[in-house]
Amino acid sequence: MRTPPGVSSKDFSSALRQFEQAVGEQWVLTSDEDMDTYRDSYSPFWHEDEEPVPSAAVAPDSVEQVQQVVKIANAHKIPLWTISTGKNLGYGGSAPVLSGSVILDLKRMNRILEVNDKDHYALVEPGVSYFDLYRYIHDRGLRVMVDAADPGWGSVLGNAIDRGGGHTPMRDHFDAHCGLEIVLANGDLVRTGMGALPGAKTWQQYRYGFGPYVDGIFSQSNFGVVTKMGMWLYPQPEAHMVATVSVPRHDDLIPLVDIVAFLMNCGIIPSTPPFAPPLFSGPPGDPALCALRARPDAPSTQELEQLFQRKHLGYWSVDLPFYGPVNVLAAQWEYARERFSAIPGATFQEGKLFRFPLDPKELEQVPNPVLLGVPNLAIFGIGGPRSQGHLWFSPIIPMTGEAVFEAQKVFADAYRELDLPVIAAGQTFFGPASNYPRCFLILFGFPVEHDIAKNRKNRAAFKRLVQIAAEHGWGEYRTHTAFMQTVSDVYSYNHHALRSFNETIKDAIDPNGIFSPGKCGIWPKHLREAKS
Ligand SMILES: Cc1cc2nc3c(=O)[nH]c(=O)nc-3n(C[C@H](O)[C@H](O)[C@H](O)COP(=O)(O)OP(=O)(O)OC[C@H]3O[C@@H](n4cnc5c(N)ncnc54)[C@H](O)[C@@H]3O)c2cc1C
Repeated sequence: MRTPPGVSSKDFSSALRQFEQAVGEQWVLTSDEDMDTYRDSYSPFWHEDEEPVPSAAVAPDSVEQVQQVVKIANAHKIPLWTISTGKNLGYGGSAPVLSGSVILDLKRMNRILEVNDKDHYALVEPGVSYFDLYRYIHDRGLRVMVDAADPGWGSVLGNAIDRGGGHTPMRDHFDAHCGLEIVLANGDLVRTGMGALPGAKTWQQYRYGFGPYVDGIFSQSNFGVVTKMGMWLYPQPEAHMVATVSVPRHDDLIPLVDIVAFLMNCGIIPSTPPFAPPLFSGPPGDPALCALRARPDAPSTQELEQLFQRKHLGYWSVDLPFYGPVNVLAAQWEYARERFSAIPGATFQEGKLFRFPLDPKELEQVPNPVLLGVPNLAIFGIGGPRSQGHLWFSPIIPMTGEAVFEAQKVFADAYRELDLPVIAAGQTFFGPASNYPRCFLILFGFPVEHDIAKNRKNRAAFKRLVQIAAEHGWGEYRTHTAFMQTVSDVYSYNHHALRSFNETIKDAIDPNGIFSPGKCGIWPKHLREAKS
């Protein structure tokens, strides 16, 4: 039997028996077969001893059971790695940072406690997936929309607590939450915001409650186990439409982004506008474009500009998603067009207008129903059938065209320097995304292989990319468990003052260091001392 680090077999066996008494024998898992299901299918340590694997998993069904499990773990100093639905692919799956941790699996806690379509919010447990929430809303004909991450099987709560993002006006998922319930390391139960007021009538309406606003310290952290979360939902809109703006020249990206940023900051574009990189904005079957897409080197700007002009295609394009009443949406689009007309040669295309509730036949034709609040798993087509998975390298850069050009150059050079596998069009000409307000998120899919030598090389390259990004003032918004330390190391202002602050909190509220050791570079005191 594998045991958590520093815990004797005898102690561990005794703790497992107590877990069984707390949650039922069948919900404490220790077999190799069961542990395999908690490994990261996209692990960059495939076939290597360093792959972090859990020693056991325990799956409570209620808050009271979570409290009991936590108290037992605390008494035996057993590290717990918390997951909600554990589908964190690209960022570590269900696997812990510290090998031998026990997975605290909250999938069974999958109750939708409330969906309110007058005040537009939901109150959910950790195991509720986007699919669950969508079905609940759909079956009852409630007039609210779900904002899902691309993989619809993920947890509404787990994704939000990891600060994931979606596409509609509620796309910044942590920002959309309102009110948490948390089990602390000593087993205490805390409710944040108005939830601290017994009998509060506004737990899911007013975020801040009274005194310090602590919710943030429970996101991307290892300070507690979140057992309930309120989420604001977007009222079901009357309609949705995506309109496309294309501009003819390479340098037009600068005014294009400026205008998009202005419109987003004003609230006129209410959600994530994806920018299409030049090679992807043209028709997929076009022979000249296909030839360029297949080229291993990056075609020059001049070559692309000439080709696109000949074909009357935009060099850059951006899709603007609008949601709301039909006449408001029309006015927003009209105003946006007026602003973009300042760019000579800008062209405009209106997409299909969808009216809610959606017609199921119409929905079948939609390539990405996530934009319409309908979760699905279509995203797993990326990378093609031979893909063995990927990690996300995901730096945040300023929302300006100049920053995009700089990042393109820096990362294209880095890819060459690091001899990274594919300088595919999508990687050198990435499309900056705006899942979070006021900045761009760049997502590089970083290949995972079932090949030790390649993974070793790629891990070193990933670390180097984190360094290069930091040298340019760009930091990751989130990262795979394998690189949490690396990323935490570059957030080093004033001799790591922020990390020291987090460690102070950690030591105070989780002195035995039982919650997710190493998460986001935060280690409990005894493991910090052992490492130094
Ligand atoms: C092809 C592809 C596309 C993707 N697209 C997106 C996307 O559009 N948007 C996006 O955000 N992500 C995306 N991801 C990343 C990831 O798959 C999703 O974010 C997924 O929703 C996360 O898994 P989960 O919801 O099951 O969360 P979990 O794995 O359950 O949790 C995520 C992390 O949060 C912490 N945590 C979870 N629950 C709790 C709790 N109750 N208390 C304390 N801490 C907790 C844990 O550390 C856990 O590791 C994508 C991944 C892939 C492979």
